[in-house]
Amino acid sequence: MTYDLVIKNGTIVTAEATYTADIGIRGERIAAIGEGLSGTRELDAAGKLVTPGAVDVHVHLALNLGGGLVSCDDWFTGTRAAAFGGTTTIVDFVHPEAGETLAQAYDLRRAEADPQTTIDYALHMALGPAQIPQLGDLPQIVERGITTFKLYLAYGYCLKDGELLQALEAIRDVGGLPVVHAENWDVITTLIRRHVAAGRTEPRWHPRSRPAPLEAEAAGRVIDLAAWVGVPVHIFHIGCREVVQRVAAARAKGLPVYGETCPQYLFLTEAAYDAPGVAGALPVCAPPLRTETDQDVLWAALAQDVLQLVTTDHCPFTTEQKARGLQDFSRIPGGVPSIEARFPLLYTYGVRAGRISLNRWVDLCCTTPARLHHLERKGALAVGCDADIVIFDPNQTVTLSTGTLHENVDWTPYNGFTAQGWPSVTIQRGAVLVDNGSFHGQAGQGRYVARKTK
Ligand SMILES: [Zn+2]
Repeated sequence: MTYDLVIKNGTIVTAEATYTADIGIRGERIAAIGEGLSGTRELDAAGKLVTPGAVDVHVHLALNLGGGLVSCDDWFTGTRAAAFGGTTTIVDFVHPEAGETLAQAYDLRRAEADPQTTIDYALHMALGPAQIPQLGDLPQIVERGITTFKLYLAYGYCLKDGELLQALEAIRDVGGLPVVHAENWDVITTLIRRHVAAGRTEPRWHPRSRPAPLEAEAAGRVIDLAAWVGVPVHIFHIGCREVVQRVAAARAKGLPVYGETCPQYLFLTEAAYDAPGVAGALPVCAPPLRTETDQDVLWAALAQDVLQLVTTDHCPFTTEQKARGLQDFSRIPGGVPSIEARFPLLYTYGVRAGRISLNRWVDLCCTTPARLHHLERKGALAVGCDADIVIFDPNQTVTLSTGTLHENVDWTPYNGFTAQGWPSVTIQRGAVLVDNGSFHGQAGQGRYVARKTK
C-alpha cells in the first residue's frame, strides 16, 4: 500500500501521547499511522517532533477600526506568517456594521478572505448592540458554519447587561459558544477621561486605566450570567491573576467555563509601556500587559488546566499607526503581532523551561482549540483527520526579529527572543506549505471551514 506522502521516523506528539511512527497521507487526510510505511513522496523526520498543525482561534487580519486604521497583516501576509510558525488553521471575525444583516456581513468577510488566505480558516460572528434585534437570524448563521459568537464588554460593540443576557440566550438556543472580551468599559472610559484631563497622556497610563480587579469584575459578571442562562463561555485574552481566579472558581463548581491566554501576556510586562516615545505605545493592547507575578500565575493555570488554550489575538499595527496616539494613549490602536511565534515560543519557554509537558503544549496550541471551537478533523493526528502536520525541529534556533519573522509589520514585541525549536515543515491537507524556510503556498489555497454545533 503506497501513500501519496509519508512522514517517516518522527517522534509523534499528540495531546495524549509521544511515540515513534510513520504517518501516511492519502489526498488531504491522514490515512495511516504505523511502521514501515512507504509513499510516492517521503519526508524524513528522524530527530524531529511531528505535531498537528497548530490552531489559533483568535486573530484579527485586516481589522478595520475606521478612520483609515486597518491592522497591517492581511489575509495573505498574516496566514503566510502563521504557516511559517506552524499554524494551519485560524479563526477570525465577522464584524457586522449597522444596517447590514449578519448574513451580508458574513458574505463580505468571506469575499475578503477566500481569495487571499493560504491556510484554512473559520469565522466568529461579533454581536454588538446593533445586532441584538437580529438575534433571530442566528440559525441562518449557524447554517453558514459559524458556531462561535463574539461578545464585547468594551468599545463601540459594548453590550449592556440586558443585551448580554439576550445574546447569551440566543447563542444557547442554537447550541453555540460565546467568546467574550471582558472588561468594565464604563470604568475604563471614566478613568481614561480622568487621566487625559489631568495631562496623564503617556502609554504608561493605559494599564492604569484598566485595573485588573475590575477586569475580573467583568469576567465574573459574564461567567455568572452564562451560568444562569445555561451556556458555556470562553473568556478571551486573560492576562491577570484576578481573572484566572474567577475562571478557576467557576471550573471548580463544574461550570463549562474556558479561558485562553496569549504570548504577549506570558512574555511581556507592563514595564514595556514605560519605554520613551513610540516604543512605549507599540505594545498597547487590551486588556493590557500586567506583571511578572501574573505571568507565573498564567503558566501555572496553563499547566493545571485552569486555562485551556493559548491563542494570539494577533492584531498588528505599524509604528506609524501606533504613533497616532502619542498625544493621548487612549487613541493608540490596540494590538500586537504574535501569529508566527506562538507555537515555537510556547515550546521554548513552556516545554524546554519545564513549565508544561510536550503533550500539554500540543493540547494548548492545537487540540483543545480545535475541539472547543468545533473544528472537526483539525488539531489532532489520527486516521481520518486532515493532514495538517508540522515537522518541528527541536534543535533549530531562531532569534526573533522583523528580519526572521514574516509578519507584515515593522516591529515585533519579541525582538531578541531566542526560540530553541522551530517548524521546519508545515503541511496543510497533505500539501507542503513551508519547507525549511521557503513558502510554497498560494493565495486562495486555504479553505473556509464550516463548523457544526454539537
Ligand atoms: Zn481580539
